[in-house]
Amino acid sequence: MVLSFGILILAATSIGTWLASDLAVNALRKSTGQNLEEVAVQLRDKIALDLHERYSDLAVAAALSSQQLAKQQTGDVSALLDALARNFSSYAWIGLTSADGTVVASTASMLKGMNVSHRPWFQEAKDKPYLGDAHEALLLEEKLNNNTNVPLRFVDVAVPLQDPEGNFVGVLGAHLYLDWVASLGESLLAPLQERLQAELILADKNGEVIIGPKGSVGSMLNEPLVQAAQSDRPGYMTLPMVLESGTGTRDYLVGYSRLQDRAEYTTFNWLVLVRKPASEAFQPAQSLRNTLFFSGVLLAMLLILFAVYTARRITHPLLQMAREADRLDPDNPSSPIKLRDDYEEVRVLSSVFKDLVQRLTKKTRQMNELNASLEHRVTERTRELEEANQRLEETVRTDALTGLNNRRHFFELGRTALKKAIRSGKPLSAIMFDADLFKKVNDTYGHAVGDKALIHLSVMAKHALRDIDILARLGGEEFAVLLEGTDEEAAAEVAERLRQSINGKALTLERGSVTLSISAGVACLTPEGGDELDTLLVFADKALYAAKAGGRNRVVRYSEVNVEDVPPETGA
Ligand code: GH3
Ligand code: MG
Ligand code: MG
Repeated sequence: MVLSFGILILAATSIGTWLASDLAVNALRKSTGQNLEEVAVQLRDKIALDLHERYSDLAVAAALSSQQLAKQQTGDVSALLDALARNFSSYAWIGLTSADGTVVASTASMLKGMNVSHRPWFQEAKDKPYLGDAHEALLLEEKLNNNTNVPLRFVDVAVPLQDPEGNFVGVLGAHLYLDWVASLGESLLAPLQERLQAELILADKNGEVIIGPKGSVGSMLNEPLVQAAQSDRPGYMTLPMVLESGTGTRDYLVGYSRLQDRAEYTTFNWLVLVRKPASEAFQPAQSLRNTLFFSGVLLAMLLILFAVYTARRITHPLLQMAREADRLDPDNPSSPIKLRDDYEEVRVLSSVFKDLVQRLTKKTRQMNELNASLEHRVTERTRELEEANQRLEETVRTDALTGLNNRRHFFELGRTALKKAIRSGKPLSAIMFDADLFKKVNDTYGHAVGDKALIHLSVMAKHALRDIDILARLGGEEFAVLLEGTDEEAAAEVAERLRQSINGKALTLERGSVTLSISAGVACLTPEGGDELDTLLVFADKALYAAKAGGRNRVVRYSEVNVEDVPPETGA
């Protein structure tokens, strides 16, 4: 996030710098260009003014001279010419010719007596005033002390002389040092130079340089510049130009204008240019661009630092909260979510978060506790159910009063025991016993005592028997025992022991006691006796019947019973 923010800032800075510097360069180009153009126009006007003045000088001087010439006063004419020359330092020579072209008077008497009729200025000025384009000195080169190795160049001004009748009588001509234009340019530029640092170029109407940087005189200006400068409107443009002859080109900002088409100098219509290297012209813009760029980058860096700091400040507490949430243990009651006050949003968020976590923790704890208690209850219920089942099974199997096997279970166990006996070939014996005259106990002591007596009987029977013997209450006061692997004789001994133990231990009552007795019948299932449990029990019951019939409180073995004495169906 910070990275993209940084890139955004840098991009914005670059675009801003580029736009600003572009605007600055354009503004600077315009203002500098206009400055240069202005100087070019001023210089042009100054040149035009000077030329016009020289022309007026000569026109006045010509009028005066023609009068003096008429009076044959050539000496006065020379004085007049010298006075004129003193008035304007750039006159190289002023001379008056006769109608045939002979110089009759001149400054410093130079060329006096020479015929100049072949010179263009003489020829041209015969009919009308003439301003001649720049040219090198021909006749005057040696006469004037030229200390430079650059040839002297002149501009010619000439007016015709007429007598009062209007006849052509001669020409008043003057040569102006062309350097006058250069010094004019210098004097104009001097006060501006510190600011402008510009240079002057003067070219003829075709673009050939007349005055310019060293070595440039005689060279041609670039075509687009010439075309632009030749138009009536002054202006400025940027273009590649030669710095000095022999050096390479570089970009220049050039202001241009041209002499206007006045009657006196339509012949030359010089192009006046003021130029300045573009790099220097745009130097302030360049510095501005650099300043903008570096301050922009600095600002971007500061903003990025600020962004990093802000991002840290914003995300730090959030990360801390995330870590705290990560470490959260719902079983640990002390919530590690801290209240934070880094800034308003975090303060609210942390408080809400802490609250939420506390509530969640509480809920989770409650859920866990609920789960644990549910599990506990389920275990408890399962156990209770198992116990109930067990009790139910016992209830189904046992007799409610005595806790002994009931009749149904006795038959189940009996069938299993019978199968085992048949499989193993071992004997299975049964004892059936019945309390004697029990009705009397009930009648005498009440039913509750009768019940107690039955329980007592059961306890005694259990004590007298082995654990593996199957003892059951078949109903009422009648009981049965199955003895596995026991023959009739051994079973009869067990029954006898049982009878004696019951008869020998009276049941103690609140008032007095009661002695019980039982009668027992013993039978053993032998292979020839069949394989039915019912049969075994029927035999034992028959023996019991015989014991009752024989006087009670005794044991009778089925093998001893005379079958004829026993009725075929009993209550067994
Ligand atoms: P005997 O067997 O010696 O011929 O005489 P008896 O009096 O024991 O026989 P009977 O069949 O005439 O009477 C059995 C009595 O046992 C009748 C009944 O009141 C009593 N009895 C049976 N079941 C219960 C019981 O669960 N509780 C009580 N208190 N008495 C019972
Ligand atoms: Mg009975
Ligand atoms: Mg009985």
